[in-house]
Amino acid sequence: MGAVSGVPVTLDWPNFWAGFAVCFVVTGALWTLAAMHFHRIGFWSNRRFKYMTKHFADGVYRSSLDGRQICANPALVKLNGYDTEAELLSAVEDIAVEWYVDPNRRQEFKDILKRDGVVEDFVSEIYRHKTRERIWITENARLIRDKKGRPLFYQGSVREVTDTVRRLEIEERFTRFSEQVPGGLFQVKWGSDGTFTSPYLSQGVSELFGGLPEDVQADSSCLFRMIHPDDYSAYLKSAIDSARNQTTWHSEFRIVRRNGSKRWLSVNGTPEIEPDGSCIWHGFVTDITERKRSEDKIANLAFYDPLTSLPNRRKLLEELEHTLAKSCVGETHGALLFLDLDNFKSLNDSKGHAVGDELLSAVAERLKESVREGDLVSRFGGDEFVIVLKDLGQKPDAAQRLAESLAERFRAAIDQPFALSGSTFHTSPSIGSVLFKGKEQSVDELLQQADSAMYVAKAQGRNTVRFYNAAMQEPLEEELTLSSALRDAVQHDHLDLHFQKQVDQDGRIVGAEALLRWHHPDHGPISPARFIPIAEKSGLILKVNDWVLRRSLSVLSKWRRIPHLCDVKLSVNISPRQFNQQNFVPRLLEDIRTLNINPEQLVIELTEHVMADDNGGTAEKMMHLKQEGVGFSLDDFGTGYSSLAQLKGLPFDELKIDGSFVRDIEANESDRAIVRTIIAMAESLGITTVAEWVETEAQRQFLSDEGCPVMQGYLFGTAIPISAFETLVAATRGASAQQSVTDQDLQAVSA
Ligand code: C2E
Ligand code: MG
Ligand code: MG
Repeated sequence: MGAVSGVPVTLDWPNFWAGFAVCFVVTGALWTLAAMHFHRIGFWSNRRFKYMTKHFADGVYRSSLDGRQICANPALVKLNGYDTEAELLSAVEDIAVEWYVDPNRRQEFKDILKRDGVVEDFVSEIYRHKTRERIWITENARLIRDKKGRPLFYQGSVREVTDTVRRLEIEERFTRFSEQVPGGLFQVKWGSDGTFTSPYLSQGVSELFGGLPEDVQADSSCLFRMIHPDDYSAYLKSAIDSARNQTTWHSEFRIVRRNGSKRWLSVNGTPEIEPDGSCIWHGFVTDITERKRSEDKIANLAFYDPLTSLPNRRKLLEELEHTLAKSCVGETHGALLFLDLDNFKSLNDSKGHAVGDELLSAVAERLKESVREGDLVSRFGGDEFVIVLKDLGQKPDAAQRLAESLAERFRAAIDQPFALSGSTFHTSPSIGSVLFKGKEQSVDELLQQADSAMYVAKAQGRNTVRFYNAAMQEPLEEELTLSSALRDAVQHDHLDLHFQKQVDQDGRIVGAEALLRWHHPDHGPISPARFIPIAEKSGLILKVNDWVLRRSLSVLSKWRRIPHLCDVKLSVNISPRQFNQQNFVPRLLEDIRTLNINPEQLVIELTEHVMADDNGGTAEKMMHLKQEGVGFSLDDFGTGYSSLAQLKGLPFDELKIDGSFVRDIEANESDRAIVRTIIAMAESLGITTVAEWVETEAQRQFLSDEGCPVMQGYLFGTAIPISAFETLVAATRGASAQQSVTDQDLQAVSA
């Protein structure tokens, strides 16, 4: 900006010289009169000439045709750096070579005089004669002839214009520079009378604005009229603040060009107060449309879901904060709806992700069509959508009724068939809703409450809407407390592993199942059936599972070296999430190698859920481990939806008939039939059957009669501490006490 200030920006070269001539007339009136006289009084004596020109501000001279100085007035003497005329006259021998920086200038000067008899405004760079400093002058001169017309001498006036030339040079350079910089340079003046003028606007400014009227410099209000109405007040405020505080003016705004196209511009200006009280900004303006586009794109990525184009969770949280603040001010109610699609997962699994995505987009469209103007529909994640209903009024009952009817509208909209990829699909939503007013609850609390209500809607038959009430919160809070206690337990090593034996038909121990035990400091033992699902929800499961696997591997590492234990198999429950981890297989194989474990002693128990979470690699992973000797057991068979045929592609070595069938063997004929069929089918597939929860002799007898080779249950023993299990094996196999493994041994291996 500094480069701009101080430059007489209204001047350009041709105008300048015209102005300069005018200047001569005005400022040197006396000289002009005299100059006019020269035409007639060329014959004046040198003495008279000196007398006449003594007080002129401009230098006046006579010079001989061959380039010497004949007379010079005091101004010319001074211009040449001398004190007296005598000094000057004696010093100058040839004006052509000593005075003009370009010696050809003298010849050009003479040629013009010869041709026209006069030179006017003859601008040259010359040397100040005495000091040899380069300066700029302008000359007016005339050839004086005698009565017969013969040339006598030249007579003229000289004015130094170095400052002006330098300024013009700067201006020219500046103009060239402004043509090269992107955008435009400007001076905008806010007059004390409130008018806006632009002493200078580079060509770039006009291009940015898509052309400007000719009188824009005199009246710049048209620039303001082109500013987008939404940006106008911020733009004006930034200018006013800058003028008031004399701080840099910066503003980013849109303009609407005459042809209707829109551009984003950025203006930066330095203000300066003029003596008359007006404020002038020297600055530049640039086109930032592309930058704004990229920023928008980035903002979209960060705040919108790419699949449905709906606001994402982040945007929702932000908007929700605003809505709560607004509801606080207006004391109006709003509602949060948490919508989860029923059976989406199975559609996604069975029809593929592409169809799943198509359904989510179609659901988003229906929600958008059903939402009132001003309300917000967002995609919270997966198949969950959150809707914010605003301005439901100040009366709670009316707000509740309105929220209910709007929620019902969404439910009904989704509960209609969808035509996707040429087929018709049906889904329905479970919607949990919570009413809010002001900031009585935080955003997190509201989401949690709507989520709890949604779970109740799911539990109560799906495809329904449930409003939150305080009773719904209790199980959730208990879950949260348990989850944090479990985190503590993992951290402080308060978990324990017990082994439950598995026996063959003769009652001999052939293996054990590792079962996790957690003794809560206040609540005592907590069943894994209760805390494992909580760990799965909170993501803690990976840590828990990892701990179990490490502990089991350290036991197997020891067992390999103990003769009576080196053929006992250990079944370890592995959750789908753990198994589907990318590095699960390589890490396990690495541990098997480094701990020198016999892989055949390890059996991995998986449930059929491993296939639901599958990313396509379950069979390959299983195959890889199986080739290394690791065994696989399908746990809880019969409780899920998989048929044996579906599981045929997976290399299971055994399947565990779920305890619920075994439990009812005696009382229930159909359970007996199921168990019988499973054993027969498994046998035909070459798979070993293990029956769980065998509690009575009658159950054992039935299973034995049906040919079930391995059993596990309280009839044979509950899960017991590892050391107790090892002592038991040693005792039943007649091994010596020294051969059994102590807990200290295990600690050593673990370490
Ligand atoms: P599961 O893998 O099917 O384990 C068998 C469950 O049946 C165990 O319950 C065991 O104590 C119980 N059980 C054994 N014999 C009988 C019986 O005769 N009658 C009855 N009613 N129950 C019997 P537990 O230990 O409570 O484990 C429950 C579930 O928790 C397990 O079912 C398994 O799914 C999970 N779990 C246990 N330990 C782990 C573990 O280390 N990792 C993972 N991921 N899950 C585990
Ligand atoms: Mg199990
Ligand atoms: Mg089981």
